[in-house]
Amino acid sequence: MPNSVRVRFAPSPTGYLHVGGARTALFNWLYARHRGGKFILRIEDTDEARNTPEARQAIFDGMKWLGLDWDEGPDSGGDCGPYFQSQRKDIYDAYFAKLEAAGRVYAEENGAMRFKFSREPVIIPDMVCGDVHFAATEEPDMTIRRPDGSYIFHFVNVVDDAEMGITHVIRGEDHLSNTWKHIDLFHAFGKHPPKYAHIPLILNPTGSKMSKRDEGSSIQSYIDAGFLPEAVFNYLCLLGWTPKGDAEKLDREAIISLFDPKEIHSANARFDMVKCTWFNAQYLRALEPAALYAAALPFLQKERLTINDSAIAERALQSVKEKVSLLAELPCWVHYFFKEEYTYEDEVITKLKAKPENPTLLKELAADFAALSTWDEHAAHASVEATAKRLSVKPGALMPLLRFALTGQSRGPGVATILVLLGKD
Ligand code: GLU
Repeated sequence: MPNSVRVRFAPSPTGYLHVGGARTALFNWLYARHRGGKFILRIEDTDEARNTPEARQAIFDGMKWLGLDWDEGPDSGGDCGPYFQSQRKDIYDAYFAKLEAAGRVYAEENGAMRFKFSREPVIIPDMVCGDVHFAATEEPDMTIRRPDGSYIFHFVNVVDDAEMGITHVIRGEDHLSNTWKHIDLFHAFGKHPPKYAHIPLILNPTGSKMSKRDEGSSIQSYIDAGFLPEAVFNYLCLLGWTPKGDAEKLDREAIISLFDPKEIHSANARFDMVKCTWFNAQYLRALEPAALYAAALPFLQKERLTINDSAIAERALQSVKEKVSLLAELPCWVHYFFKEEYTYEDEVITKLKAKPENPTLLKELAADFAALSTWDEHAAHASVEATAKRLSVKPGALMPLLRFALTGQSRGPGVATILVLLGKD
């Protein structure tokens, strides 16, 4: 039998892709990939005033950046389209007509239409929260169609889950309190409700719900700061889920094979930027030279660094990768490899000026370098030692001097590495 798991991410495009939304998308994607099922992207854009093309684009860009490809949805097509709610009015009208025929709707004075609740107790067997019991409701019947003919969220959300054959709904816990309404609608349509997994909220470090203003709330901010998508992917998985075993740093394939929504915690997850950044540093260090170069290139270009020799650039980046956590930190560690004019740190200038013999020492070093026939780290190092011996100074005094003179900085990769990468000339 073909695998029939069908899950969806159903964002409302109202500004940007939030870290909570991204994690919801991620858990759905993981479940689809784990079960060999289908992951559907459905854009819940019925609120025309608030939905902009930019906001839609932010969702697509963020998901693509994280590597969350969708099997059905905008651009991918599929048998259950269109995948924008704003284009599904006919389908909603047809479902509405079913409720009318079943005597489950009635008009209000203003023309809005209400759905008659069945008023039976509901049990939601939730994969994360366990069985959640709701007593028969005493709430007034629910408006499902506005006087202008547009439909409200609960109605379109359920129609689409029914129409698209969604088998599992994995979404934020904030939707749990309304799920009994959704189940009532499924039954009224004569459909089986999907299985539910309501995942806990993401809290900021102070313990309140993560909001727009919190650091790290928008996926775009990770892209801009120079996080690697695989690091953010890995970190987000751990916000509310702990893989079996001790390892936390796991690649995509390992996470797919381990992922089980039953193991999602029911307690809220605490966002930790320090840990997320630490993850990024680990991933960055593990990158092969060509991959680090490719990831760093946009950040170098943003700082207007012109790369003439990508082999040199790869080696320069490798030489400092242990020193940074984020790609955006790289340009200031390597800029002197790519431009002639750069500023000297104040501290460096002070140190260079402190000893009157420094210009002479540098001239002597340069003279000895010029005489070399091979130019590699070993030769450069040996030459500095020879110069030191000749002038009766310690090599330890020449190395920082060289570093200051060559880079304008007091920190950086090994001096011999700098010498070789800059080239003998
Ligand atoms: N558009 C809803 C949201 O963004 C979807 C809720 C759901 O996944 O059912 O919260």
